[in-house]
Amino acid sequence: MSTLAALALAVAGLVAPCEAPETLIVGAQVWTDARWQEVDLHLRDGRIDAIAAGLQVASAQRRIDASGLRIIPGLIDAHVHLYELGGPYPPGWDRPPYVESTRLNGRALLRSGVTSARVHLSNLQSGSELKLESMSPCAPLPRLQLGGPGVIGGGTTTPGFQTVGVEDAAQAHALTAAYAAAGVDWIALHQLDLFEPAQLRLLIESARRQGLRIMAAGDSVAALRLALQHGVDSVEYLPTDAVIPEDLLAALVAPSAPPVVAPIGYYRRIASALQAPSAGRVLGTPAGLSAPESRHFASRFDTWLRAQGHYQDAAQLLPMREANFRKLLDAGAGVLLGTDVGSAGHYHDRAIWTEIAAWRAAGMADEQVIDRGTRLAAAALGYSDLGRIEVGAVADLLILDRAIAGGLRPEALRYVLKAGVVHRHPDPASK
Ligand SMILES: [Zn+2]
Repeated sequence: MSTLAALALAVAGLVAPCEAPETLIVGAQVWTDARWQEVDLHLRDGRIDAIAAGLQVASAQRRIDASGLRIIPGLIDAHVHLYELGGPYPPGWDRPPYVESTRLNGRALLRSGVTSARVHLSNLQSGSELKLESMSPCAPLPRLQLGGPGVIGGGTTTPGFQTVGVEDAAQAHALTAAYAAAGVDWIALHQLDLFEPAQLRLLIESARRQGLRIMAAGDSVAALRLALQHGVDSVEYLPTDAVIPEDLLAALVAPSAPPVVAPIGYYRRIASALQAPSAGRVLGTPAGLSAPESRHFASRFDTWLRAQGHYQDAAQLLPMREANFRKLLDAGAGVLLGTDVGSAGHYHDRAIWTEIAAWRAAGMADEQVIDRGTRLAAAALGYSDLGRIEVGAVADLLILDRAIAGGLRPEALRYVLKAGVVHRHPDPASK
């Protein structure tokens, strides 16, 4: 266990101790060094200690026979929401810091194969403790980076989950200093085109001085243009108002271009669900709710969903989203796997697979999907020891059944390991 993880355990006092024995995984086909290889893995202290065919390690306390299985790095979801349930909260859940939904969602995300995630719109009060906790291999949630409350162009208000604008340099400084003090990694900027240009510049300069990275919504061409002009570190969403112009596409494939986290699977799913008489029946309920909680959720879902005005145009905007997604892929832009899970009807136990299914439907090979959800995502988030299976890397691993038809599918998922600790096991009695 790393020093930091041990510290997290000690300081937070929230994570139950767990087993992380020295482990040998044999017989699998492993995605390593950009190809599938028949090699064994030796895990020790939460990391990959050796990779070779026919490994013999006498000291290994646990042996996983992975014959007929394949192993990929744990998936990184570059855009999640953690306290939103994707629907109406059960009684008593709808209050900060949203402990019940955050626990449920964190566990569901990890068990779905997401071993690291970047949270969009985390709050400043509970985020840092959660982040610390998430670093423990034993904690049943992905390792987290935090994007703090969103800052939205076009006005001023008080900080909470979202903040509207800043008025002057002092405010920009105070805001970004508060983010940094709360352990936030990213500042999330929205509606860039509604900021006064001088205010946007101030905010970005202040954020950089505080060591914050900048994630910016690129959901319109004007916002995307500003994001690129300001050299942000990550672009979120796809423009829905127009096709991405050629000059911006060129900027998005330049060597210094920021990655684009462009969820598409969710919009495809919500667009069809909203056209059905009962979207609730199409979308189901999140896993892990008790029977009464699930009934409460299901009985209120349709009314709740139709009150979320900003999703009503999902079907209408879908063709533009899909066209821009295609354009980015064809141009060779750094598109990363990210789901925006927690949006209406988008549940943590399945969101990453909804996204993967959409990418595969768009013609992307499994290996490309894996690369964009592991190695490239880790690089974009600044991790040097995640997202790949190599000696010294953190042992975040997914073990999947090769016999399941159709390749990268949720039905194939057998094991989820976070830093060597098993959080999902094919035998439910073992986990
Ligand atoms: Zn979001």
